[in-house]
Amino acid sequence: MDWMTRVRCLVFNAALGPLDYRVPEGMDVAPGSVVVAPLGPRQIVGVVWDEGHLAADPYPENKLRKLLDVLPVPPLPAPLRRLIEWCADYYLASLSSVARMALSSSAALRGGGTLTEYRLTGAEPARMTPQRLLALDLLQGEQGTMRELAEIADVSEGVLRSMAGAGLIEPVQVDSDRPYAEPDPHFAQPDLSAEQAEAAAEMVEAVRAHRFQPFLLDGVTGSGKTETYFEAVAAALETGRQVLVLLPEIALTAAFLSRFEARFGVAPVTWHSSLKASERRRAWRQVAFGGAKVVVGARSALFLPFADLGLIVVDEAHEISFKQDDGVRYNARDVAVMRGHFESVPVVLASATPALESLQMAEAGRYRRLVLPSRFGGASLPEIEVINLTETQPERGRWLAPPLVEALQDRLAKGEQSLLFLNRRGYAPLTLCRHCGFRFKCPNCSAWLVEHRLSQRLACHHCGHEVPPPPVCPECGELDCLVACGPGVERIADEAAEILPGARVAVVTSDTLTSPAAAAEFVSKAEAGAIDVIVGTQLVTKGFHFPDLTLVGVVDADMGLDGGDLRAAERTYQQIAQVAGRAGRSAKAGLVLIQTRHPKAAVIAALASGTRDAFYAAETEARREAGAPPFGRWAAIIVSSEDEAEAREAARAIGGTRPDLADVLILGPAPAPLSLLRGRHRYRLLIAARRSSEVQKVIRAWLDPLRFPPGVRVAVDIDPYSFV
Ligand code: ADP
Ligand code: ZN
Repeated sequence: MDWMTRVRCLVFNAALGPLDYRVPEGMDVAPGSVVVAPLGPRQIVGVVWDEGHLAADPYPENKLRKLLDVLPVPPLPAPLRRLIEWCADYYLASLSSVARMALSSSAALRGGGTLTEYRLTGAEPARMTPQRLLALDLLQGEQGTMRELAEIADVSEGVLRSMAGAGLIEPVQVDSDRPYAEPDPHFAQPDLSAEQAEAAAEMVEAVRAHRFQPFLLDGVTGSGKTETYFEAVAAALETGRQVLVLLPEIALTAAFLSRFEARFGVAPVTWHSSLKASERRRAWRQVAFGGAKVVVGARSALFLPFADLGLIVVDEAHEISFKQDDGVRYNARDVAVMRGHFESVPVVLASATPALESLQMAEAGRYRRLVLPSRFGGASLPEIEVINLTETQPERGRWLAPPLVEALQDRLAKGEQSLLFLNRRGYAPLTLCRHCGFRFKCPNCSAWLVEHRLSQRLACHHCGHEVPPPPVCPECGELDCLVACGPGVERIADEAAEILPGARVAVVTSDTLTSPAAAAEFVSKAEAGAIDVIVGTQLVTKGFHFPDLTLVGVVDADMGLDGGDLRAAERTYQQIAQVAGRAGRSAKAGLVLIQTRHPKAAVIAALASGTRDAFYAAETEARREAGAPPFGRWAAIIVSSEDEAEAREAARAIGGTRPDLADVLILGPAPAPLSLLRGRHRYRLLIAARRSSEVQKVIRAWLDPLRFPPGVRVAVDIDPYSFV
């Protein structure tokens, strides 16, 4: 091919549109090439884009500047470029902000090479300080740069360097592009049940055909969805293609990785925010060059530049954490389906409690629904009973009602495990002064400070602001007058310890499982039977498989129901059904006790009677009637500023220029429920449109001409999940 003489590039500068450049003679560029270009006196990174895809007035030929360099990575593949365009268009984001997510390792762009890492030599130290002893212990089996090891060992780089001087640590040259061990599709093939085999066969067929096909793998908890889609993973590996598995939470990966290894012989490549820079670089490059066969990652893995993708799996696809609520506000579940479309590969959405949107797509024939109706290996679904808190009350100052207390005592006596679920971190959600009524509020957010006793602080769950609990009331100065109101998991854990003397109680939240290592430690302790009662937030609702866990107590089933959120009922259903699914997963039968003040509410009744379909049918009807998603298309506009008047003014200006359209309803502006967040005052507008209307086009035409002061931020959220 003769090279293009001029190209249009997407450059990584939010303020700039696409720019034209001349290709110097001899430079080999193609659409997708990652290049270095001059911009004024500076150099910027950009991506050569397809001709005709980026609108801009052509820059005069005689003023074109030359590209400076092509970076040593494969061009971003065409399906990924189409995905980037689709996301920018659909989510009203700039192309460069989406493309930036694809180039998420700047080190990877600089090319391969060797880097120096360090590891223990195994030599015995002559002089053993306690600090060195601890560091040696922590560094067992680790290898990394000085900086990474310093972090692992919790010492300064200086200490490590002196250890290197003493011959305890040695440098090793490693190839930053070394390939990963390849998973073996035949390593340990399980015998599938008939229903599993049937579902697997359909997915395998689509993988082999290299055909776009969304599947909704809808199987009850414990039905073996993972084993089943692993067959599709194996089929992709057999054809030499790559696989992307998206998981919602980093906590899940520990358990997941060992299952993967048991099936395929080696661990998969992982991609998440706590990767070291060197791991990130290696993973990114191996994905781009085709050497990373299976990547298991958080939602950001969706934009990795796979050389030859063969399958995408979204596990626990109903999870709301797939929705990103800052930057580019995308929903990874939907983007995964679009990527499958552009890559011509099947996409498997696996869940025991699918999102209503996904079920609706299956109903409409757009997704193929594969059903696994029963638990694997003859385990039965747990029995579910409701405790009506209006009749059966906990003792004064307690939160667990007598039937739940008795069940807990019974399980402890039998040596079986229990799980108490309450979706609230910390000890108590509100602290007030008994004397003057003062309540602890976050200075940056319209929210109460949550007491955390384990870490002895009052913390805001929105902005991270925290203070130590003061000995006196900051308002009236009374001593010892602060009282905790309401329960959090820490308080429930205290109560469990009181009613179950000798029981080993573990609190499982994002405060306690802060890393994959901490998650792995929890899982192995629970599996070894070293924990009697797990008290946890939604973190424990997914993925875990503990054979001796036979009792699940839902402390407050009503909690998620207030607030008037579009998905409140659906989310409550999903959370409780998922947490219930942790009980009785093997031979011993499981029991779930749900504490509620509204036993007749549709969600609770559906859970108690196990009639999922009836719940979904009622919820679907309600949404259809309200014109709510998935039957209507919703969008939100969030206006914020550090200055209240400025935010209000900007929101009013947007409201004042609202388009008047028959099929688009615009509500607001109104102060957001969280009217102050991280020091910014917030206003919201809600746009409710017919499914068929081009709501993005409407919003673009509406907002594009408006100009705001520099302190104002206007964010558009398409298909919003958050209504605060
Ligand atoms: P789900 O994800 O649907 O809740 P899992 O995939 O976790 O279910 O499966 C539940 C348990 O049953 C796991 O321990 C899994 O290893 C086991 N299992 C499922 N299917 C099979 C199979 N075909 N052969 C052996 N074990 C299986
Ligand atoms: Zn705050």
